[in-house]
Amino acid sequence: MSVFHLKYRPNKISELDLTDVSDKLTKILGSKDMPQSWLFAGPKGSGKTSAARILAKSINCLDPDGVEPCDKCKNCQEIMRGNSLDIIEIDGASNRGVDDIRNLKDSAYLSPINLKKKVVIIDEVHMLTREAFNALLKVLEEPPKNLIFVLCTTDDNKIPETVLSRLCQIRFIKGNKESLKKSLNKIIKGEKIKIDEDAINYILEKSDGSFRNLQRNFNEIFLQTGKKISLKDIEGYLLKNGEYEGKNLEEDLMAGEVEVILEKLEKMAGDGVNFADLREKWLQYFQTKMLSFYGLGT
Ligand SMILES: [Zn+2]
Repeated sequence: MSVFHLKYRPNKISELDLTDVSDKLTKILGSKDMPQSWLFAGPKGSGKTSAARILAKSINCLDPDGVEPCDKCKNCQEIMRGNSLDIIEIDGASNRGVDDIRNLKDSAYLSPINLKKKVVIIDEVHMLTREAFNALLKVLEEPPKNLIFVLCTTDDNKIPETVLSRLCQIRFIKGNKESLKKSLNKIIKGEKIKIDEDAINYILEKSDGSFRNLQRNFNEIFLQTGKKISLKDIEGYLLKNGEYEGKNLEEDLMAGEVEVILEKLEKMAGDGVNFADLREKWLQYFQTKMLSFYGLGT
């Protein structure tokens, strides 16, 4: 995990990268009947687990400002340190069987030790087996009063309808340019980084809508180049990581820049880029392009 990811992660509901998510959470958490079972669904790196931890603080804070956690009380501190026994985080991909869920239920049913409410966060919940979902459904139908479930998934189509219908669903989406830029600007300001607008636009474009990718890439570039970052630094870094995409290759080919292409390939070879992966990416790009040229494919 990158340092920027920890240092600049949102701590309040209003700081969440997706405005729509923070608006919805504020509204629902402020209502009288707070749901006990939640589903956070959306792509990787869109902030689901960060939001789940903030939700846990909001529910448990001893001195909240509306729905916002104070981050100072002993409950907030305990959750922020990440060692609270009342916050149970499991990965659904590696704990997918019915026995895993039964074990989870055993500990979840015990009253919270320090906090007001126990919060169970299951990441990648769509990976659970059908039997495991059935076992989970029983708790979701009648959860103990002090228990909150936050199920996170990148693929809610794989979650049985019976389970879905029990959950308060919050949808996460890929970051658009504006929200990604807002997230990046926090780091640029915080670290007093000098960076050109074209360099900013380039890295935003390359992060595939993922706040996590953006922070991770930017952190690496920062560590390599320091507080002054140019478009060239970013291109160099992404190239090193095999980010010479089909689109870029096509542009260079169309421009007849054979020397540039060879230079890039040589640099990548020197940096130990995996060319088999890269070739796959290029083939896929040109195949899709060709199919769409003939009106085939999507
Ligand atoms: Zn607090």
